[in-house]
Amino acid sequence: MIPLKSEEDLKNLQVSGEILGRTMRGLKKFVLSGISTAEIDRIAEELIIKEGAKPAFKGYRGFPAALCVSINEEIVHGIPGKRVLREGDIVGLDLGVNYLGYFSDAAVTLAIGEISPKVNKLVEVTRQALVEGIKLAIVGNNLSDISHRIQSFVEGKGFSVVRQFVGHGIGLSLHEEPEIPNFGSPHQGPILKSGMVLAIEPMVNMGSWESEILPNGWTAVTKDRLPSAHFEHTVAITEEGPRILTS
Ligand code: MG
Repeated sequence: MIPLKSEEDLKNLQVSGEILGRTMRGLKKFVLSGISTAEIDRIAEELIIKEGAKPAFKGYRGFPAALCVSINEEIVHGIPGKRVLREGDIVGLDLGVNYLGYFSDAAVTLAIGEISPKVNKLVEVTRQALVEGIKLAIVGNNLSDISHRIQSFVEGKGFSVVRQFVGHGIGLSLHEEPEIPNFGSPHQGPILKSGMVLAIEPMVNMGSWESEILPNGWTAVTKDRLPSAHFEHTVAITEEGPRILTS
């Protein structure tokens, strides 16, 4: 069963999402050539705590930081550390907020200075794939309509979607049912209902869809080491249409 949220829950989730949205916007100005990934993580945690919320990822299944920072061929779950961002990198920031037990989750991929046109296309296609998926997050659709739309949009642009990681329900915990793959046939799976809250998160590779986990046990990278991009929003299904909570 996919849990449905009450109006009261949705109000609190909206506050959680707004804290996350503001934190992401606040972080962007620091994400420049020369900064270490540990420093970005430190700023993210500080911004969230200032808002009276908690970083949802820190300690989750033992994850050591508030922020996942994934550079170039890293898909998701990069661990912040001494590595410094360089001109031409792309960097995925994935962040979760816990506000009074209400969880929100979002990700963006940012360019550090000038990036190549092909990498820029990867980032823009991934950003748009999220928009395309959200358009189908409406009452009465099947869950897999979102998945199928993301896959066909991405593959139509010549890129591939990651299979090993998927989006998820969210709300009263960080990961709830259902899983939301970024691939699959349309018209399958549960029917979307008002009150469902979904973290939709296309992860798009420039080359092959195949991925592997680094020996640190967390960081996912592309098998061919070509770049990957990631965007995510927490979205509520409502009678009025999809409501992005993390913008
Ligand atoms: Mg997520």
